[in-house]
Amino acid sequence: MSFRNRLTLFFVLIVIVPMISVAFVLFRLISDSESGKSDAAVAAKLRVASNVYLQDADSAMAVLNRLGRDPGLASALARKDAGVVRRRVKHLVPALGARRVVVTRGGRVVADSGDRTATAPAIRQLVDQRRRPLGELQVSVTSAASFVRAVQAKTQDPQRQDVQVVLRAGNGLLASTVAISNVASLPLVGNTTLMGRPWRLASFTASGFGGQPLRVILLSDRRSTASNVSASRELAAAILAGFFIIAFAFAVLVSRSLQGQIARFLDAARRLGTGDFSTSVPVSGRDEFAELGDEFNKMSGQLESRLDELREQRARLQQALQRIGQAFASNLDRDALLELVLRTAVEGVQAAGGRATARAGSGEPLQERARLGDLDPFRDALAQAEADALQTRELARAATSKTWALAYPLRAGDSEGDGDRPAGDGRVLGLISVARADRDFSEAERELFHYLAAQAGVSIENVSLHEVVQRQAVTDELTGLFNHRRFQEALDSEVERSRRFGQPVSLIMLDIDNFKRINDDYGHQQGDLVLQEVARIVREYSREIDAPARYGGEELAVVLPQTDLEGAYHLAERVREGIEGLSLPLLEQEGTIDVTASLGVSSLDDAGASPRELVAAADAALYRAKRAGKNKTVRAQ
Ligand code: GH3
Ligand code: MG
Ligand code: MG
Repeated sequence: MSFRNRLTLFFVLIVIVPMISVAFVLFRLISDSESGKSDAAVAAKLRVASNVYLQDADSAMAVLNRLGRDPGLASALARKDAGVVRRRVKHLVPALGARRVVVTRGGRVVADSGDRTATAPAIRQLVDQRRRPLGELQVSVTSAASFVRAVQAKTQDPQRQDVQVVLRAGNGLLASTVAISNVASLPLVGNTTLMGRPWRLASFTASGFGGQPLRVILLSDRRSTASNVSASRELAAAILAGFFIIAFAFAVLVSRSLQGQIARFLDAARRLGTGDFSTSVPVSGRDEFAELGDEFNKMSGQLESRLDELREQRARLQQALQRIGQAFASNLDRDALLELVLRTAVEGVQAAGGRATARAGSGEPLQERARLGDLDPFRDALAQAEADALQTRELARAATSKTWALAYPLRAGDSEGDGDRPAGDGRVLGLISVARADRDFSEAERELFHYLAAQAGVSIENVSLHEVVQRQAVTDELTGLFNHRRFQEALDSEVERSRRFGQPVSLIMLDIDNFKRINDDYGHQQGDLVLQEVARIVREYSREIDAPARYGGEELAVVLPQTDLEGAYHLAERVREGIEGLSLPLLEQEGTIDVTASLGVSSLDDAGASPRELVAAADAALYRAKRAGKNKTVRAQ
């Protein structure tokens, strides 16, 4: 069920339930008030009936007085002549206009004449002159039928025939304005149905002949009351229905307006979900919805800025990835790697700056190799953290006057988990440190820094290993000069360069004189030592750009870029003289050994020459030097 439907239902319920109760009470009150009214009306009619009875009794009393003054009746009563009394009474009833006359004496009826149904009697004791009782007179001037008719005439609405009168003596019917089969079953008060109509009943007791109790029962038509009740109820129902319609309309209106407000929030939330922060919820008024809208807009703003932050972080991450990629591409250059790690660490822990230091070689002092940001404000904190890290060989944290620094030693062998390589010896290869002001580094930041620095240590160590392997691949082990393969590469590239840029390139080939004899006389180890010393001389005299190499056996060669034949010859001569000046100690006996070498020099003058021809020319010159008596330098022809 939708929120709006629920809201409407709720309103309807809180209106309908009390309304039903109100309707119930109201209907009850209406019916009570109407029956109260009809009861009052019936009571009034009853009083009328009672008055009619009393008036009839009064009329009877007037007749009774005239009867009491009749001398004939009085003397007959005094004489106790019953026959005369009866005759006299019989004569007097029509004469005086009475309906019934009853004479009793000492409780016995002496005479009874007239209509037996006569009612509303007047009663009186008769006495003689000396106040002695003569008997009791009872006189009525009204028949029961005329009494009930009179009462009906005085109480009913002539058009509607809404009153009926019943006169009852004990269980017997004296007179009635309506046909009644069994008068004993007619209730004296309350409601009944007669002739298919509902009646309300009321009654009173009157005194009949001989004190016999009579019952006057009034029946009042209830249909008018019922129609009054239903009319009032209809009115009340109409009013209540009106109220209900208004309440329902109000409920629908309220729920619509609430629904409208909620729909706006829903819409905004959906837009937020799709990442659209451009439009906010319209806020009007000062109610809870306005507050909610306000909070919603604030939340949306915060989300937007958080999202911006995340985007920025992602961009930084992408940059870091790019840098890592570049680092891989940069042939594992140590400084590039250090700078990369430093930059990533500074950004990763949101430091203001940092630096990385490393040793040029094992045993050398630490030197700064990379730096980010202005580190002046953090000098003390950095120095302290770095000193601690060096001493403890662990992550160190320092805080001085509102600046914080982290430092971690780059250690060989921080890759203990790596099964491919033996765990390192823990030498400190360098240090990496970061710093910032205002706030300390969090636990998460310290962990990230630790992780990065540890990884950097592994990488630096990898770089060192890589460098060693690379060096080994191009170096001759005995002499420390380039090996033959590297010599060929250097020669090829220099010849190529010389061709392209028109610069000269020269080659020196060197062969130690009588080397076999040194081996033979003093042993191979002595020979190796001689070879190493000659190589040292060659390296010493070579320039930075030259490529001294062991060509093979005890033959050495030097590629001389940007050098013509004369320049090469002069260098070769200096080398030859340097070797000649060597005085090498013997390994296994006293004394020294003299060494000489023969050298051949060639140069690439004509552009058509190949590396092979250059070597052949130098070789030929060397051969000629040997032929000319050794310890000589000869230029190629
Ligand atoms: P020449 O003056 O004509 O050059 O005479 P040589 O005795 O030097 O003759 P050659 O150049 O043919 O001799 C090469 C010798 O160098 C052969 C070999 O025993 C020796 N040799 C080559 N490589 C090494 C090395 O690595 N160590 C040692 N000890 N001897 C080597
Ligand atoms: Mg040789
Ligand atoms: Mg030789």
